Amino acid sequence: MMILKAKVPKVLVKGAENTSELECKVCKGWLNHWKKLAGYKQDVKIKCCHPAHERSGEKIADRGAHVMKCPTVKNDNPSKELFIIPVCKEHIIKEKEAIRIPDEMLVDARPCKPRTIGARRR
Ligand SMILES: [Zn+2]
Ligand SMILES: [Zn+2]
Repeated sequence: MMILKAKVPKVLVKGAENTSELECKVCKGWLNHWKKLAGYKQDVKIKCCHPAHERSGEKIADRGAHVMKCPTVKNDNPSKELFIIPVCKEHIIKEKEAIRIPDEMLVDARPCKPRTIGARRR
């Protein structure tokens, strides 16, 4: 038996449609939201996770893009769940464009709930 090097599991994703109206009012921006859910401080610079950078060199992400998992043989009934990934402006993930990225780059795209405990509407 061959011993394979441990590989980061990768997942095939594609751009999600009709997401321009979505926002996280708590984080004020999807890249901020990504950093928060991925456990980074807000002032940390995050690399664009588009696989094109494996050839062209690293670039800092300046936005978060909505993606969803592509159907695969193993997963032929994918949920419509949306995820956020960090990208640079060259790599806004287009609809139908499928890219393979490390699993750990996906964070939940559901907007954060504002803390309403104790807050009262006037
Ligand atoms: Zn958020
Ligand atoms: Zn990029």
